Amino acid sequence: MQKYRVGILGATGAVGQQFIRLLDGHPWFEITALAASERSAGKPYHEAARWVLSTPIPERVARQTVALARPDLDCDFVFSGLDAGVAGEVEGAFARAGYPVISNARNYRLDPSVPLLIPEVNPDHTALVAGQDWGGSGGFIVTNPNCSTVGLVMALKPLYDHFGVEQVQVTTMQALSGAGYPGVASLDALGNVTPYIGEEKMRVEPTKLLGTLRDGQIEPSSVTISAQCNRVPVLDGHLLCISVRLGRKADPEAVADVLRAAASPLDGLNLPTAPARWLHYHDAPDAPQTRRHVDLGDGMTVSVGRVRACEVLDVKFVALVHNTVRGAAGGAILNAELLVKQGLLRPRAVTA
Ligand code: NAP
Repeated sequence: MQKYRVGILGATGAVGQQFIRLLDGHPWFEITALAASERSAGKPYHEAARWVLSTPIPERVARQTVALARPDLDCDFVFSGLDAGVAGEVEGAFARAGYPVISNARNYRLDPSVPLLIPEVNPDHTALVAGQDWGGSGGFIVTNPNCSTVGLVMALKPLYDHFGVEQVQVTTMQALSGAGYPGVASLDALGNVTPYIGEEKMRVEPTKLLGTLRDGQIEPSSVTISAQCNRVPVLDGHLLCISVRLGRKADPEAVADVLRAAASPLDGLNLPTAPARWLHYHDAPDAPQTRRHVDLGDGMTVSVGRVRACEVLDVKFVALVHNTVRGAAGGAILNAELLVKQGLLRPRAVTA
């Protein structure tokens, strides 16, 4: 199979770097364009980026020149790790110019015609792209959710399908890498916990993700979510303490069994970035833990554990998601792989 030529918008940032690491040696996609701001444009990538990952920059990428994020890149589609301050305008310009845009930014997530996608949760929502109008260009936008929302909804989905979920209370402990680079000032981060970081997204995005596709539109789920989000001084991984009111009463053992056995709709599709297990249930009473379990399934597996009775709602448990992998770049790559499988992502020369 000829590889798809891929561009990365925001290639120098925290998410952009994960895209570059995860796409190195990808069997379907190869990076042909890197783009960022005026600060980086014109420089070789290794000079433009402050590389923070522990594996080296892939050699071919290191020497590649960073371009401006303008819709004249040599690629079939783009991944976007753009700052939200510019993502709306830039991603729209790429879609109008005929590029499919697979985005991490928040700007289009709640647009009724844009899929907000987690392949294991709502793979059918990709049908929305048929209703997008970018002037007949053939371009479209698909988004992935906020990084904590990804962990929450992946953990809720099997319970939602099996018992129904009516109310959720969630408290997050979110890693510093979730704020990008350089992110949080050291005097705010070290030995400290900072409350209030984007709670609205966690309240609203799950209702779209768990919604039902009907007549070309998403009917949102009626689940009510109360979220409290905190930044804590860990590098990678968002830990979530979740309490749930179920639609149908169930004891904690039955809930744990459903989480243990949860099948993925991607099984059998052989998507290169899909982990062997999308959810991993930990039986140890003190798991999951952020540092120990964040890299499970190369960062694509969401960990769950500690299911027990909740004194206020019905059951409570803990979930853990790798924010820059499953919650960002890895999730977006899986989205693109699903779109390829569904025949929605094609080489641009064929589309034109
Ligand atoms: P980041 O480290 O601050 O990187 C931002 C990127 O945007 C950089 O490559 C930057 O390029 C580029 N950029 C800024 N202004 C630009 C402009 N005017 N034109 C073109 N490019 C511009 O942020 P991040 O953490 O990677 O996050 C990227 C996006 O993903 C954000 O929308 C964020 O909300 C979302 N997201 C992040 C996470 C996470 O865990 N970090 C998770 C989910 C979603 P320069 O280096 O040239 O300035």
